[in-house]
Amino acid sequence: MRFSYDILDDREKIIYELRALYAGSGYSHFRMSRFEEYDFYSRNKYLNLSESVYGSTSIAAIGVAAHECGHAVQDSEGYALLRFRNSIVPVVNIGSRLSWPLLVIGLAIGVSGLYTAGLIMFLLVVLFHLVTLPMEIDASRRGLRMLQEYGIVESSDEVSAVRQVLSAAALTYLAALAMAVANLLRILAMSRRRN
Ligand SMILES: [Zn+2]
Repeated sequence: MRFSYDILDDREKIIYELRALYAGSGYSHFRMSRFEEYDFYSRNKYLNLSESVYGSTSIAAIGVAAHECGHAVQDSEGYALLRFRNSIVPVVNIGSRLSWPLLVIGLAIGVSGLYTAGLIMFLLVVLFHLVTLPMEIDASRRGLRMLQEYGIVESSDEVSAVRQVLSAAALTYLAALAMAVANLLRILAMSRRRN
C-alpha cells in the first residue's frame, strides 16, 4: 500500500491532495464528484471519465480507467458488495446529513430517542465505508488483471506503477473508513460524558 507521488503529474498531485483535504474536513468522498470517477459507473451505467483520464496515456489515468472497467464487470456479474452498496446509498446520503444534527440536538436537550436515531444513521455511514473498501479493492484487482490480459501494461515496472496508483486510491477509501470509525468513537464518547 506504499504510495509514490512521483508517478503522478502536477495536476494529479493537486487533485489527490485536495481529496485528502476534503476527507480530513469530514466530507465523505462519495459526495465529492469532481474527481470521483469511481462512482460514475454505477450511477450512469456508462464509463464516464474525466478529461484528465480520458485521452490520457499516463499510468495513473490508465489505472483509474481500468478500475472503472472493474466496476462494470462487477455490475455485469451481479457482485454482491456492489449491489448492497448501491442499495444503501440513498439512505446513507440522508443519514450522513442528518446524523450529526440529531446527535447534537439529542444530547443538548437530553432526548435519547433523537440521539439513538442519529447513532443508527451514523452506523449506516460506517457500514457504507466498510462495504466500499473491499468493493473498491476488488475493482482495482479486476482492472489490473484486465490491463495485463489485454497487454495494455506489460513490463513489471508498468504493472507495479499501476498497482501503486490503485493502492493510493484504496488508501483514500481506507482513510474514509478510519475517519468514520474515529467519528463513531467520538460520538460514543460524547454520550458517555453526558450520562
Ligand atoms: Zn471504484
